[in-house]
Formats: sequence, structure tokens, C-alpha cells
Amino acid sequence: MGIYESLIEIAGSDRVSNGPEELHFYSRDAGAQVPRRADYVVLPKTTEEVQKIVVLAAGERVPVTPMGGGFTLSALAVPNRGGIVLDMKGMDRILEVNEMSRYALIEAGVTQAALRSYLKRNHPDLQHSTPEAPPAVTVVANALIQGHGHISPRYGVNSDMITGMEVVLPTGEVCKIGSSSLAPTWFTRGPLPDLAGLFVGWYGTTGIVTKLSMRLYPKPKYRDVFVFSTDDIDLIPEVISEVTRLDLLEDFFLISQEKPDWMNHCFFVLILSGHFEKELVLKRDIYKKFFRGFAGGNKVAFVEDLHPALRKRFLDVPPLAALAADFRKGGGFEYTGAILPIEKIPEAWRKGIEIMHRYGILCSYVHQVLPGPGIMFGFNYSFNRADKKDIENTRKALEESNRLTYELGGMVWKGEQGAQKMAMDRMDPNTLQLITRVKRLLDPEGIMNPGNWEPGDGR
Ligand SMILES: Cc1cc2nc3c(=O)[nH]c(=O)nc-3n(C[C@H](O)[C@H](O)[C@H](O)COP(=O)(O)OP(=O)(O)OC[C@H]3O[C@@H](n4cnc5c(N)ncnc54)[C@H](O)[C@@H]3O)c2cc1C
Repeated sequence: MGIYESLIEIAGSDRVSNGPEELHFYSRDAGAQVPRRADYVVLPKTTEEVQKIVVLAAGERVPVTPMGGGFTLSALAVPNRGGIVLDMKGMDRILEVNEMSRYALIEAGVTQAALRSYLKRNHPDLQHSTPEAPPAVTVVANALIQGHGHISPRYGVNSDMITGMEVVLPTGEVCKIGSSSLAPTWFTRGPLPDLAGLFVGWYGTTGIVTKLSMRLYPKPKYRDVFVFSTDDIDLIPEVISEVTRLDLLEDFFLISQEKPDWMNHCFFVLILSGHFEKELVLKRDIYKKFFRGFAGGNKVAFVEDLHPALRKRFLDVPPLAALAADFRKGGGFEYTGAILPIEKIPEAWRKGIEIMHRYGILCSYVHQVLPGPGIMFGFNYSFNRADKKDIENTRKALEESNRLTYELGGMVWKGEQGAQKMAMDRMDPNTLQLITRVKRLLDPEGIMNPGNWEPGDGR
């Protein structure tokens, strides 16, 4: 029996395809990377099906690429060497929400929108950390790529919120991580050897997560947005350091755009929330006073007349930036997500604008402050998907901002293969060897999303 027929025997003919229409779709993503061809697409429904597919693939040495929403934009879920794309969106059950211990247990294909609306309907006092990404992205893949959501400045990046996992290893065993490995509870991943780290940040090269539990958080009744602006880029690190010292924020991001002209400043967007109205008022007053007294009192201004439409966009979950994907003719969007120490922001800001201008791109920045404090500094590029030159310029700009990120002592988050290579070229050789050994140990046939975290010299 051929691979296609075997896949049909495992998952059924309506959830397997090698048709040209589906393969076209699964061979590319919404970013600027070069398409690569998938051979088969499967939408498994159960862990057992995933297990059988992996055993089949290992026996036939066929690559397997797990995919959630496919929206990292860096082609991380596009197969580099063909084979099977395992579209996890078929596994879309929300298995448990524990109100008291505040966690949710979900299957790998549950989208951000599905979990959000489920919580809104059934557990309105709880929320999960929602990224600014399109609603069709999956909660699990986002946590696995160390994504960040609208409450990350307060509670940490989304991978920190994982409390347990069920994983199908590349050799076919199903493995539980955290308290669920001892008892049917999913409330914590330790104290135990922290095996979650074998699957977080690896881009599906070490196993397929079929279930994941993650923390939920109380949803405050009162929320508001306060915006402050400055033209002094050099003040940004100090503002972030001081503002986060107070430990009172729900979300904190910075935005700036060259056009329209009124956006051509650095805007600090503070989302404040409170369980009590008085709490919110107190926080707002503290920040107003803080900025009034900051740097002699005349460098950072409170934006009094924030347009109601903009206020709504900032307060939406997911907020503003998800809309950025479409702000130019052609609808292409791509970015270097640079995780940077905050003191490097002014240099990154200026050099990022230089890079964009060199490639004829208008500057548009959205950066989210992360705990630490650190920052996810977004070098954003929108491009016309129908214009080859524009795509080529975007790739070159992306490569430059990736390099700049490493030169500034940062890391490229969810980097495409080029960015991964730059990281591995700079990495401590023993660390790189450890990564390679772990991968080999878990995936002896080298079938899992090959091409990612793969050193060029075969170490
Ligand atoms: C406009 C826009 C704004 C964005 N803003 C944010 C933001 O604010 N915060 C943020 O965090 N992200 C953001 N993103 C990036 C990205 O869309 C999200 O991080 C998204 O959640 C990734 O999830 P996905 O389901 O699309 O992952 P995918 O692209 O499908 O997968 C990501 C990686 O995980 C692997 N993988 C997928 N599922 C599994 C599994 N079950 N087991 C093992 N490996 C698996 C894949 O092989 C791939 O390597 C944004 C994207 C866009 C387009």
C-alpha cells in the first residue's frame, strides 16, 4: 500500500488529500518566504491517528510538518522537504476548563477565537493570553513558539503559562508532561524535570503536541487605555524601565508610523485594568502624575483627545496590529520579531528606519513590552504580494533586520530558516551540539519538520 492509501486508512478519505488545490495552499504561507511543496495533507482527529501517521512516516522516512494556523509568517509550518503536513485544526476540542485552579485543557487545533468565545460564553470571569495575531491561529502553536498575548506584560510570555502537555514523539510513543503524567490533573508542570522545554521553541522538530493545558487569568471588570507620546527616542528605555517598575499594567505597547503624519511620533500605549473602578482610577492617576513629572515634565505628553475609534482598537482583544496585515495594496505582511534588551531600542529604532527606507518601505512599528522588562521589537514590512520586486525587497529588509537584531545582542523570535542559521552561526558550539543531540535522540529518522534548527555542517 502506498503512503497516500495508508494515510486514508488511518484518517479517512475526507481528511487526506494530495490534490493540487490543497497542496498549493499548504505549500506556502502569508509571509514573504519562497513556497515549498507539500506532498500530502492530513487532518487528524485523535491522538491515536497522529501516532499512527508518525509511525508510518518514520517507517517510510517521510517528513512530517505539524501545522496550526500556519500564521507565523516565517514558513515554519511549510514543509522544507515535502512529505506530510499534519493540519492539527481537526483536533479542536476544549476538553476542560477548571474554574477553581484556573487552567484550560485543549487539543492542538483549538484557535484563539474558539477559546476566547468559549470562555466568554461559559466562563466570563476568565481569560487567556491572546496574541494580536489573526483569530484563526492556534493557542497551542502560539505557546510552542513562545508567543505573547494581551496580558503578557503582566503575566509572562505564553509558553510560561503551559501547565501540561500530551505529546506524540517522533518514534510514536505518547508522552505526558507535568502533573498529568502522575494523575489526571493538568494544573502544573512541576516540580518535576521540566520536559516541556523539549518541545517549546523547537518548531515541531521534536514531537507533536496533541493536548496542552495552560493557565487562565481573572478577567478584570474595568479596562481603559492611556496613550502618551514623545519625539525623544532616547527616552524610551527609561520610560519602559520606570513604567514597568510600578507593576500595575495589563498591556504595554509602543507604536509609530511615518504616515499619516499625526502617527509619526512614539506612542506609549498603556492598557490599565482593575477589578474595582477605584483601582482603575488610581492606576490612571498614578501614570498621569508619573509622566507629568518625567524628564523635567515636557518631553512626554498625555494624548487627551484619543479618537474613539482608536481607543476601541487599542482595547479590542486582539488589538490593533492584527489589522496591519492589510494596510497596503496587495495585502502582504512580514516582520522580524526582535526580542531585545530595552537599552538597545533607540539604536534599533533608528537603524530599522534606515533599513526600511533603503528598500522603499515606510516605517511602521508595533512593539510589545515583555516581562523583564524586554521588548518584542517589530520591524514590520507590508508589501504587495503581486509585485515580485516588492517581495524581494521585503526579504532583503527582513534579512538585514534579523542581522541587526543579533548584532544588538537580541534574538529573532519565530525566525525563518535564514534567521535560525544566523542564530546557529553565533551560538556557543556546545549549546548547538546539545540541540543537535536532543533532536537526534528524539527523532532518530530525522522526519520532523526537517530544515529547522538544523546546523549546516551536519554537527
Ligand atoms: C498580523 C499578525 C500579528 C501577529 N501578532 C502576534 C502577537 O501579538 N503575538 C504573537 O505571539 N504572535 C503574533 N503573530 C504571529 C503568529 O501568527 C502567532 O504567534 C500564531 O499564534 C502562531 O500560531 P499558528 O497556529 O499560526 O502557528 P503555525 O504557524 O501553524 O506553527 C508554528 C510552529 O509550530 C509548529 N507546530 C504547530 N502546531 C504544533 C503542534 N501541535 N505540535 C508541535 N509543533 C507544532 C509548526 O510546525 C511551526 O513550526 C502575529 C501574526 C500576524 C500575521
